[in-house]
Amino acid sequence: MAFEPLRARMVDEQLRRRGLTDPRLLAAFRKVPRHLFVPEELREEAYADHPLPIGGGQTISQPYIAALMTSQLNLQGHERVLEVGTGSGYQAAILAELALEVFSVERIPDLLLTAQERLTALGYLNVHLATSNGSLGWPEHAPYDAILVTAAAPNVPQPLLDQLADRGRMVIPIGPPAHQMLHRIHKQDQRLRREAIASCVFVPLVGAHGWPPEGV
Ligand code: SAH
Repeated sequence: MAFEPLRARMVDEQLRRRGLTDPRLLAAFRKVPRHLFVPEELREEAYADHPLPIGGGQTISQPYIAALMTSQLNLQGHERVLEVGTGSGYQAAILAELALEVFSVERIPDLLLTAQERLTALGYLNVHLATSNGSLGWPEHAPYDAILVTAAAPNVPQPLLDQLADRGRMVIPIGPPAHQMLHRIHKQDQRLRREAIASCVFVPLVGAHGWPPEGV
């Protein structure tokens, strides 16, 4: 199967036509081979307009949602970015195309291992992964110019706000497991500005500052 034309069509029909037009953003989504970040038996669906299961009850986000979240970070290329919820590693690869260094944390060790193999095979040397509770952030490498949370939290975890640099921005889905609002938070001079961007559905952020693991 030729994946490149499918990827070009995904970018055109799902991203550009829905109003995401930043050339750097579109180039990143045109470049990263999304089909290598989904289970082998789902490769042919990798460029479809919906999320896909990646194992462990988790999902890789719909391409448009990944692109919308990324666009809200307004990355210029010099940033240090924290991602919470590595999952397949796809979003981390996108961020690696658009920023200087990417730090990404995942709570499920098997997912992290697979993501690491993929990112290494594709030569992404600027992505650093760890297994941990991402609702606590990754304090060793803070502060971050941008933070992207790809699992839904009840509220914005305070450790993430603390680890956001001045003039930093965070994108995070807030709300109960069934349905959330995507929020963008901007920090300047210790003041926070928060705006709702879109409604969305993400898997829950689990653990301290997240949802309890029971029932997830
Ligand atoms: N960004 C991913 C999609 C991730 S789905 C991608 O591009 O594929 C959300 C992920 O968040 C899941 O893999 C889930 O295991 C993880 N997660 C949930 N709670 C977490 C926590 N407290 N810390 C780190 N990862 C968490």
